Amino acid sequence: MALLDTLMLARSGVDRCSEHRSDSAWITERWQDAGSRVMCVNDQGAPILRSGIGNGDGIELAMRSVSDSDAEPEDVSFLGTDPDGTSYFVEHVPDRACHADHEWGNLRDVGGVLNDRDAGLLVTAVALDNWRIGHQRCPKCGALTISKQAGWSRRCPGCESSHFPRTDPAVIMLVKDDQDRALLGRQGRWQEGWFSTLAGFVDPGESAEAAVRREVHEESGVIIGSEPDDVEYLGSQPWPFPASLMLGYHARATGTQINVDGEEIAEARWFSREELARACEEGSVRLPPSISIARRLIERWYGGELPGDWSRPLGIKR
Ligand SMILES: [Zn+2]
Repeated sequence: MALLDTLMLARSGVDRCSEHRSDSAWITERWQDAGSRVMCVNDQGAPILRSGIGNGDGIELAMRSVSDSDAEPEDVSFLGTDPDGTSYFVEHVPDRACHADHEWGNLRDVGGVLNDRDAGLLVTAVALDNWRIGHQRCPKCGALTISKQAGWSRRCPGCESSHFPRTDPAVIMLVKDDQDRALLGRQGRWQEGWFSTLAGFVDPGESAEAAVRREVHEESGVIIGSEPDDVEYLGSQPWPFPASLMLGYHARATGTQINVDGEEIAEARWFSREELARACEEGSVRLPPSISIARRLIERWYGGELPGDWSRPLGIKR
């Protein structure tokens, strides 16, 4: 199975209709359509409904008709239209009072159990909301900015500049040695036994492949081969905490010598498949939750699912 097929936050069920964002008559017509739906977003979460019992099955976004919303256009972004013709909007709310009687689900907690449509809507809504919160003022002149293009740009009336949603590329890589063992690391702020793939942000002026080589060497001392196929791109998923796009790789090391930086990474180890499976079964090693691309990179190397993770129980805040 391709890595992309298993990435929970890379799913979507709506057409973003980006070509219509600047067409205010089209957006207004969609907003006034009786079938259009609006969700709220606040602090990386949205109101949810639970139709199942217990383990998270049957969770969906709680949305309402536009006629039930008194949102101002400034506070609304257009998310897209599904194959049935239903259009979806998000209202950016300053707190959770609008749905005080609902459960709220945060993206990290519910992103893996929502259906494709709702997962895509929530990822996009959270990513837009994070960008919007950070761009209330113009980064050039400091004037208050105004929402444009159905929430997909912000215009500065002071210096006439336009600003668009930002995404920060980050690389995340499972490094393999010549015995096909995997290099996993533990960040200094993590609990003992938590291990994951190495990762880091792409620098300005740097290619993603160069970032893979640089980050692996900085964090672990391990050197990645210089041949083009020593760094293999496998897929990406948005990670809007607050604004990352995770680019996933497998990379081949030239040696096994580890020298961790001691700051970001506290320890790093090579694991054979047998060692990692045993450690996961014993609980002495815990891997990231299945919503993460890290988990998918590890399981793709392993060749199947591994037991246990470090996620919290499905934590849903009111
Ligand atoms: Zn400005």
